[in-house]
Amino acid sequence: MGVKVLTIKENILGANEEIASRNQERLDKHRVLTVNIMSSPGAGKTSLILQTIDRLKPEIRVTVIEGDIASTVDADKVNQRGVPVIQINTDGGCHLDANMIENALNNLPLEEIDLLLIENVGNLVCPAEFALGEHKKVMLLSTPEGDDKPYKYPLMFTEADVVLVNKVDLLPYLDFNVNTFNKAVTGLNPDVKILPVSCQTGEGLDAWLSWLEAEIKETKKRQTGR
Ligand code: MG
Ligand code: ZN
Repeated sequence: MGVKVLTIKENILGANEEIASRNQERLDKHRVLTVNIMSSPGAGKTSLILQTIDRLKPEIRVTVIEGDIASTVDADKVNQRGVPVIQINTDGGCHLDANMIENALNNLPLEEIDLLLIENVGNLVCPAEFALGEHKKVMLLSTPEGDDKPYKYPLMFTEADVVLVNKVDLLPYLDFNVNTFNKAVTGLNPDVKILPVSCQTGEGLDAWLSWLEAEIKETKKRQTGR
């Protein structure tokens, strides 16, 4: 099974919100929990996705949409796990938008998916401004980036449902103050869930998986009444 690649330019006509809610209705109808994963380049989005695929219960059917400016490097890694993956190349665009996701959804068998993970383009700024139709936003901050990032990029932290602090195995070597960071994040977003993890050592990933599996269950339950 190869990687399907869609090259889509940013939808300059706008109407992003409208397309995003159309996407969400469609995902709701098929009971697909959809998670938008955002971070700067190199924070570990792909590693998180690979670890998640490896640790999810086998009965959960996962599909991945990879967003990148160019290449299929990340999609190839997901594809090697035997998980369906669509690569969106933004042709220079620094974030995914709802139109791109709609195109990807047109190429996916939604009735056969329980969990859709979207890896956004690596960027701490505008991915937070564009709804895709996702149910949850997950923000990944890696410890080498510094504990001051919530002050510098507040929207990303304000919008997130979950903040994963990745590369906690490097904490002994860094000047990263966990309390300072947590205080900054909860100051912006009091309801956010902050989970320390290491995609390298596997530390903390159980809590992430528990959250994800609970949300998948919730998605199924919410729809049964329809
Ligand atoms: Mg990646
Ligand atoms: Zn952008």
